[in-house]
Amino acid sequence: MMKKRKVIILSGSSGSGKTTISQYLLSKISNLKLSISCTTRTIRKNEKNGKDYYFISKKNFFYKIKKYQFIEWEEVYDNSFYGTLKNELYKIWREGKHVLFDVDVKGGLKLKRIFKKNSLSIFISVISKKILEERLINRESENMEKIKIRLKRAEKENIYSDLFDFIIENNDLKTTKNKILKIVYNFI
Ligand code: 5GP
Repeated sequence: MMKKRKVIILSGSSGSGKTTISQYLLSKISNLKLSISCTTRTIRKNEKNGKDYYFISKKNFFYKIKKYQFIEWEEVYDNSFYGTLKNELYKIWREGKHVLFDVDVKGGLKLKRIFKKNSLSIFISVISKKILEERLINRESENMEKIKIRLKRAEKENIYSDLFDFIIENNDLKTTKNKILKIVYNFI
């Protein structure tokens, strides 16, 4: 069993490259595991239930809130709820691994407040709104209306970035991956 249980918090706007970077970290660090969140949003065609998220109904989500099953939860987008399960965290720690969270900014800051010195929080930003827009369009997972909502939210989220331990600009994916890997290695 590990002496110190650590958590890595990756936050950043939709289209910042968070998911790709998470996958990279998981492939490089064998004692790191992703905390799979619950969400009420609809499943995308390239996603798998239980791998990307636990896709659950709103009724089930609210039941879990009532039963204090979440460490944190947010209505990230209108009517789309996302939450981090306490059990998911305990399960990963029992396996003797460190936990990786891929959450929105508010959730990330909440987790940072909970885990304090045992947490490393990284905000991934994208300087140009244009690049962000292009990435979201290329992803082909949302329609234009939803992309606009995500871009608006990205602007808001950038305001909180100073509260994270590190802010990394993801303009070049390869450089970003290496930078973040180094930071995480140093921490764990
Ligand atoms: P997407 O719908 O693109 O998968 O995710 C939308 C946003 O919700 C992303 O910023 C993602 O990091 C965030 N998110 C995913 N799971 C959680 C969670 O458990 N809690 C919070 N607060 N945000 C989450």
